[in-house]
Amino acid sequence: MYCSYCERYVATQLAVEHIQPKGLPAYQPLQGRWENFLLACVNCNSTKKDKPVSLSDVLLPDRDNTLAAYLYSAGGEIQVSSQLNAHAQQLAKATLALVGLDRRGQTIVDANGRLIALDRVKQRMEAWMTAVDARQKLAEQPGNAAMAALVLRLAQYTGFFSIWMEVFQAEPEMRRRLIDAFPGTRESGCFDPQTFEPIQPAPNPDHLPHGGKA
Ligand SMILES: [Zn+2]
Repeated sequence: MYCSYCERYVATQLAVEHIQPKGLPAYQPLQGRWENFLLACVNCNSTKKDKPVSLSDVLLPDRDNTLAAYLYSAGGEIQVSSQLNAHAQQLAKATLALVGLDRRGQTIVDANGRLIALDRVKQRMEAWMTAVDARQKLAEQPGNAAMAALVLRLAQYTGFFSIWMEVFQAEPEMRRRLIDAFPGTRESGCFDPQTFEPIQPAPNPDHLPHGGKA
């Protein structure tokens, strides 16, 4: 129940997102193909609309390691990681532009003509503050297993997996548990099984076309 692009928790109105948009004639044969589907929030889906997508020109959350690609901060900003090589940085920037993740306020009309106003920066700031608060509370009660379990539940209901991973950067055990709390994340092969550090480029275990770009 998370948007594949902005990572927020989406309780309702999760949209099936066609990576290569079904509205463009060239991509119509892909309409029913699993590898062309992602789940996305209506905001990301509506911003992306019918923009043509070349799989080799963007980083995609089902085939690349998008945690390694971006840096988040307390101010709600999202930036391309300088750890990436120049080519990967370009791809990471293209993804931000595709779904408008680098923009602050937006007015978007969804597929049903409903107006959606959104402040992505504020949402990320709130997630960051929630994660920092949880980390501090946990630090005040080291070894409190019930508290740790509650923190993981909070992360699941807040979403923004990458933000939680960044806030808990110095705590490998919590990072391991966060990876397991978000289903499918471990199986993506995007994290070292010993250190839980992100692996870049992604190993792309499903052998999706144009996966594991660097
Ligand atoms: Zn989204």
